[in-house]
Amino acid sequence: MDGFEIRTSNSKKGKGLFATKKYDVGDVILEEDPLVSCQFAWNAAYRYLACDYCMRPLETPEQNVRRLSCKPDIVLPHASCFDINLENVTTCDQCGILYCSEDCKQRAYEAFHRTLCYDTSDAQHPVMVLLETWKQMHYPPETTSVMLLVRILAFIEQSSNPSAAAATVKQFCHRTVNEDAELVHKLLGEQFTEQLNTLRELTANVINGDHVEQFLTPEGFCSLMALVGTNGQGIGTSPLALWVNSVLEITMSDDERQQLDLFIDKLYQYVEEESGTFLNTEGSGLFCLQSACNHSCDPNAESSFPYGNHRIQLKAIKQIMPGDEICISYLDECSLQRSRHSRQKELAQNYLFVCWCERCLSQASQPDCTSEEDMSDEEIDADD
Ligand SMILES: [Zn+2]
Ligand SMILES: [Zn+2]
Ligand SMILES: [Zn+2]
Repeated sequence: MDGFEIRTSNSKKGKGLFATKKYDVGDVILEEDPLVSCQFAWNAAYRYLACDYCMRPLETPEQNVRRLSCKPDIVLPHASCFDINLENVTTCDQCGILYCSEDCKQRAYEAFHRTLCYDTSDAQHPVMVLLETWKQMHYPPETTSVMLLVRILAFIEQSSNPSAAAATVKQFCHRTVNEDAELVHKLLGEQFTEQLNTLRELTANVINGDHVEQFLTPEGFCSLMALVGTNGQGIGTSPLALWVNSVLEITMSDDERQQLDLFIDKLYQYVEEESGTFLNTEGSGLFCLQSACNHSCDPNAESSFPYGNHRIQLKAIKQIMPGDEICISYLDECSLQRSRHSRQKELAQNYLFVCWCERCLSQASQPDCTSEEDMSDEEIDADD
């Protein structure tokens, strides 16, 4: 793909993604599949059925909305409009795990599943023990998963060229502290030393070997955890959202459109009553190009998952000129609206940097704590 390059920026941020041509609003900048991805542990436990390789939900939009709203009679109009193909769903012959297609089954086996195929009904299996321990340490909302880390190790160990695979993994930023700014990743604070040791020992029970040894020492494990924490890109897929997007494309009379809009509002209301905001199949993945994209509180690009699986798409949301840095927001819509202090705090804890984007610079005179919402945020933190 062309139109962008990864290079060192003049500022302190290190590497970044820069445009080499002009992009208009809505233009696709890039698309890529992750090196590895993984559904979050609690999300899977709550039966958000998904392909174990590409995270494609294994439900039709109608099944999805029926389950989330607990209303088994809901019928979606224009069902053909998003025809999720579940005919090709297949399973691993040995462990029974689900894939959306033969292709995903094969790719998973080649990438990591040969090493990670196990009997999921055996609670004593090292993978099950690790997963259970992780779940007890990390309640939802989940931001990462120890299984992503395990898949990375399996990917290295299974590779036909393990040293090259390990080098690819190490290209991702994996610092555990930012000395300049005196920041430590929130997963790696001193209070977690014991937890990390437990996770490291349990991980070593799952996978070991010459090529992954370097990641199973206390330092190696911390840097891998930091790698997963700082580079892991959230992935969310929803059959219902895909259906909503595709019915928006249909041509219909204003009257029909109005009716449909009301119907969709009602669907989301039902779903919210039963399932809150816990709607999507969620997980995270490691993307080679996407992870080079730096944060800005006033981003000019946005990523999404338009295919309903783990394939990411980066689109321009502002005009971008050749030479401009392409930036996304690492914060969600809601956090992005908050004060400079709140934004910087969240970025520091999760991504180990102090944001000095244009917007932050222009707000430098804002006090270090502001709105009421931010106050309640502080209180929640204090209770931790
Ligand atoms: Zn799949
Ligand atoms: Zn299997
Ligand atoms: Zn900023």
